[in-house]
This record gives sequence, structure tokens and C-alpha cells, in this order.
Amino acid sequence: MQIVVIGGGICGSLIVRELSHLQDVSAILIEGKSDVGQGVTKANSAIVHGGYDDPHGTMRASLCVRGNGMFPQLCEELNVPFKRTGSLVVAKDASDEIEQIENLLANGKKNGIEGLRIVGAEELRRIEPHLSDEYAFALHCSSAGITEPWMIAIAAVNLATMNGARVITGNPVKGGKVCEGRVKEVWLESGMRIPADCVINATGVHFQEVASLFGIETPPVSLRRGEYIILDKLVGDMVKTVIFPVPTEEGKGKLVLPTVDGGVLIGPTSEELDSHALEDVSTTDRGLREVLSSADSLVPGISRFNWVVRSFAGLRPDTEERDFFIKTDNEVKNFITVGSIRSPGLTAAPAIAELVVDEMITDVLNTSFKKKERVVSRLPRTERINELPFSKIAEMIDDDPLHGKIVCQCNEVSEREIINAIREGATTVDGVKFRTRAGFGRCQASFCGWRIVQILSRELGIELSEVRMNEKEAWILDGKVRP
Ligand SMILES: Cc1cc2nc3c(=O)[nH]c(=O)nc-3n(C[C@H](O)[C@H](O)[C@H](O)COP(=O)(O)OP(=O)(O)OC[C@H]3O[C@@H](n4cnc5c(N)ncnc54)[C@H](O)[C@@H]3O)c2cc1C
Repeated sequence: MQIVVIGGGICGSLIVRELSHLQDVSAILIEGKSDVGQGVTKANSAIVHGGYDDPHGTMRASLCVRGNGMFPQLCEELNVPFKRTGSLVVAKDASDEIEQIENLLANGKKNGIEGLRIVGAEELRRIEPHLSDEYAFALHCSSAGITEPWMIAIAAVNLATMNGARVITGNPVKGGKVCEGRVKEVWLESGMRIPADCVINATGVHFQEVASLFGIETPPVSLRRGEYIILDKLVGDMVKTVIFPVPTEEGKGKLVLPTVDGGVLIGPTSEELDSHALEDVSTTDRGLREVLSSADSLVPGISRFNWVVRSFAGLRPDTEERDFFIKTDNEVKNFITVGSIRSPGLTAAPAIAELVVDEMITDVLNTSFKKKERVVSRLPRTERINELPFSKIAEMIDDDPLHGKIVCQCNEVSEREIINAIREGATTVDGVKFRTRAGFGRCQASFCGWRIVQILSRELGIELSEVRMNEKEAWILDGKVRP
């Protein structure tokens, strides 16, 4: 049986990892971009949500709560950081705001969440000493946490390939052959035709467009852009938990939260875009000003330091129903769409993968699959130099001096880590960045960018001028240079 997964975001990557555990299944992941995890999965708040705000009875609610419970083991197996920081929805001493957090508490209890309670001003100040005095109450959720979503996609795909899955990147799906109510082949931009017994469409904001390539109708996608700012690690100590204001019609509001590597993330905005703007992740002056002023009203002074490192934006896909659209098509019976994966999609992703592989594919193919007797279930640990004690680093340098050659000064990433990332599949500067955090820091690769280009050229055996930032035409140099 050949099962084709289209889209290497967090959903498609975790689905292919589950598929690679099945006997007699040949699993193929096709990603249009040059690397996995580079769609919505790389541009979000990176929160593993508790699940108290998703309306009871929706797929969002049930899959979020299930997914949250799966995260500790998932991240352990994938060797990806996960910190249970807890979250706060902070309320002023005003009846409408207090009522809102009470409603969230009641909804959270219905969704089956433990560790939810309302805290008063004194405890709030103990949890978050830098929070504005204007806030007197908060809904505290101890099960919320933070992670690195793109690393989950990268690691899940690495594990899947170790277990026999095939991964094709940089080659988008452009069509397919459908006969007698079943997809028979998936066609790629390069002309390659891949036979398929079952197809899973996990293409993020592109789910409607990709379904239509197979003659399948889905609800129309609508888009909401969220703009963010990353602040320097120098303000990292000002925030311990994920801080939400009370939600509005537009969503969860603009937050302040720590990142797993010690920085601070603020945002996102929520702006409706034309539904054709599927790749419009530009930021705007107005959006970024809104982000800075909202952060300042939650944690006064946090933006005064002006430690802005970078801005970015992500697109939330949605449909009129405002729920995930995870369905087998009625006409084309072997085509499953995993669409409208809006927030809390990253939290729900492991539960979505479980649902698709353990239940939906079995139904679609009318067969039950046995698990392989032996699989690689854990990625070998890759050490990050900047997380180790000096004594350990000294031992590693004795063994291999490249552990001591620091390329990215901001995040202290060694040449050995960069070489390892390239050997594990990074082929571009962004591929190295998203695997090692080199270039993610304060200087945004102003100092290490050139070194990374040289290492990529040497390790991949290509000319310096052939090294790309990320996608096909994103060259860094436009001619020969002296090495
Ligand atoms: C602003 C914002 C904040 C969010 N915050 C959170 C949060 O804190 N917590 C949370 O749980 N969720 C959050 N989410 C939601 C979460 O990020 C998404 O639900 C999740 O990343 C969706 O993953 P995906 O795999 O469905 O999509 P994607 O990551 O977009 O993956 C789809 C992939 O399909 C590929 N693709 C598209 N077309 C083709 C084609 N024709 N051929 C081959 N490949 C194709 C794309 O290149 C892409 O890599 C947020 C979302 C946004 C936008």
C-alpha cells in the first residue's frame, strides 16, 4: 500500500511519522518548499495550549486537549524542547473581564482540563512580577507550555525516514489522476507521477487549492494574518509564563511570552486578508506598532528597551465553521483533507496524526494495519553547546575541536552542530538556522551568515554562488567570489 502525504508542516510530518510505524505501508511525504516546517508551522506563537478557550464539542477542543497530553512524550522522542511554563489570561478588576475568565474556566472544565484556576492579585504578582498593576485576576492554566514547532516537523520527518518513509522536498503537487472515485496518482511539478492508494492533503493554507487539483470541493479558506516581534534575550527575565489578555471576537489577543531559547515573543495581530493572499506574510508598520503597544500594556517597559530582534507574520487558515476540517471526501473516497488547521493546530497536531492514521486511513482502505515489530522511536540526542556545562564542553572539544569553534556568537552554535545539521538534511542557510538556531539571535546572522554559506558550500560540495537562503531562486551571491 502506498500512502502519499502532501504537505510537510507539523501535521503532515507527524502523520508520516505515524505511517512509518506500519507494516506493509510505503509512506511518502511531498513538500513543495525546499524544507519541511516552513509554512504556518514556522510562524506562530509556539504555545502548547491548555485548551480552555476552544468551544466545547468542537474538534479543536477535543484534539487540543488530547494533543497537549501527548506533548511531553512526543518532544522527548523527537529531542525537541518543551517547557510547561503555564499560562495566564489576565483580567482587570472589571465585571466584564472577570466574567470572561470565569466563562473560560467553566469551558475549560467542560473540555476536561485539569490545573485550571483563578488567581488573585498577590499570587499573580508572585508568578509574574513585571505584570502591569492594572491586572487583578487571572485564569492560570498549569498545563500550557512552549516549544519549537518547526523542529517537531524536522525531527518527525528525520525519524520517519529512519523507519523507511520517503521524503520529497522542493517539488509541489500540481495535479493527479482520479478514476472511478479514487485517486490513482499524484503528479509533481517536476513531472514525477507517484502511484497512490490513499492521499492525505495536509497543505495548511493551501488545502482548498490542493483539494481542487483532484476535483474535490472543500469549504472556502479564509485568512487572518498575525504579526509578531521577537525581543532580545536581555528582556527574557521579564516574563515567565504565556500572558494573554482576555480574548476578543478576533481571537486570543496579543500576548507576551517567553521563547524556549530565552527570548520573548510579542503579538500577534489579527487582520483578515483576501483569501487569495496565501503567501502574504509581510509585516506592516501599523501592525508592529500595535504589537509593541499591547505588549507594553501587559508588561510595562518591555518594549521601551527597544530590543527588537526581528518581526515576522503567519497566516491562520479558517473556514466559516471556525473548526478544523478533517474529512474523507464523499466522492473521491481515498482522499483525506486535514484542513483549516487554525490555532490550536500545533497543539492538536499529534492527536490529528493519531486520528488520521489509526482511524481514518483504516476506514478509507477498509483494512487494519499491524505495527512494525521494530522501529526507531527516538532520535539520537544532539547536544547544543550553549546548554551544556563547561566541563562537558571541554571533554567534547578534546574529542572533536569543531565543538569549540563557535560560528553563531549570539546563540553560541558550534561548527560541529552546523555540520551535523547539514548531514541531517539542511541544504540552505534557513535549513541550518531552523535546525541549530544559528542566525536566530540578536545580530540575525550579520556576523555568522557568511561562515554558514562557506560551511554549506564545503559540506555540500557546491560553489559558494549556488548556496541559497531558502527557496529555489533565493541566491545569496550573484557571481563568483574569492572564498
Ligand atoms: C499567527 C498564528 C499563531 C498561532 N499560534 C499557535 C499556537 O500558539 N499554538 C497552536 O497550537 N497553534 C497555533 N497556531 C496554529 C498552528 O501554527 C497551525 O495550526 C499549524 O502550524 C498548522 O500546521 P499545518 O501542518 O496544517 O500547516 P503548514 O505548516 O502550513 O504546512 C503545510 C505545508 O504544505 C505545503 N504545501 C502547500 N501546498 C503544497 C503543494 N501543492 N505541494 C506540496 N506541499 C504543499 C506547505 O509548503 C507547507 O509546508 C497559530 C497560527 C498562526 C497563523
